[in-house]
Amino acid sequence: MSTTSYCGRFAPSPTGALHFGSLVAAVACYLDARSHSGKWLLRMEDIDRPREVPGAADDILHTLETFGFEWDGPVIYQSQRTDAYQAALETLQQQGAIYPCACSRKEIAQQGQSGVEGIIYPGTCRTALPSEREARSIRVFTHNHSIHFIDRIQGEREQSLAQDVGDFIIRRADGLFAYQLAVVVDDAWQGITHIVRGADLILSTPRQLHLQALLGHPTPHYAHLPLAVDEVGNKLSKQAQSMPVDRKMPLPALLAALRFLGQPRPEEQPATVDEFWQWALTHWEIKRVPRQPAQPLPR
Ligand code: GLU
Repeated sequence: MSTTSYCGRFAPSPTGALHFGSLVAAVACYLDARSHSGKWLLRMEDIDRPREVPGAADDILHTLETFGFEWDGPVIYQSQRTDAYQAALETLQQQGAIYPCACSRKEIAQQGQSGVEGIIYPGTCRTALPSEREARSIRVFTHNHSIHFIDRIQGEREQSLAQDVGDFIIRRADGLFAYQLAVVVDDAWQGITHIVRGADLILSTPRQLHLQALLGHPTPHYAHLPLAVDEVGNKLSKQAQSMPVDRKMPLPALLAALRFLGQPRPEEQPATVDEFWQWALTHWEIKRVPRQPAQPLPR
């Protein structure tokens, strides 16, 4: 792998303060990028306005700064990128790769079977909108062949989109573009070569590979980190207000993130965040990251 062509990113959604799980993702993608002398970009995924918590985006940036993260270039906000998502949607439309869908969630829940992530769309509007029904959302056609990729941490993965997920939404009933489309458009536009993120998104990766292929975008390298869960096995999430990290005490949280990522601990406690990063950078090895968390986190 050429060390000059690495471009990574951290892409938080401003749905709450930075919690330990997202700190782990930030630390891992930062160390992986910088240890390859790569760029590290920051993208605020504020596309889902209804789920956004006012002030969370600035709060996350402030926390990252206090923790000593240094990003390249300006922060990109997805809320300002709708023209690019619309252009991608039009490209897909010209290819006949998408179709309007009139189904409500309730109708899909009644007819569809469970897939790897929610209900598989039963295909009701695939050939045409039922008469006297109006389009609510836009879906992309999926196919039966299996989509295969090799994850740098989780190993070989494969999924048949048609069988496991179904035709998925790229524009929602509320008119917003879906995460799957926005992430693919932005990763390509920002020239991202390496994606390091939480394993909760590994099931989304084949959908993203499918959209990349349709839009003619390159596929980045993927690494999905073990997911930080609490003692009862629930994923830490900003919406659940799990363990926000304390801005006044960056070092204990950074060291805990490093341990969670299976990296060695410095023999002597670093005195400053700069010292921490220097140490962590020279010792980072992605092959030490476990596939699963070694133990649940204390609350
Ligand atoms: N915005 C997503 C999140 O905060 C991450 C998306 C990604 O890394 O692809 O969970």
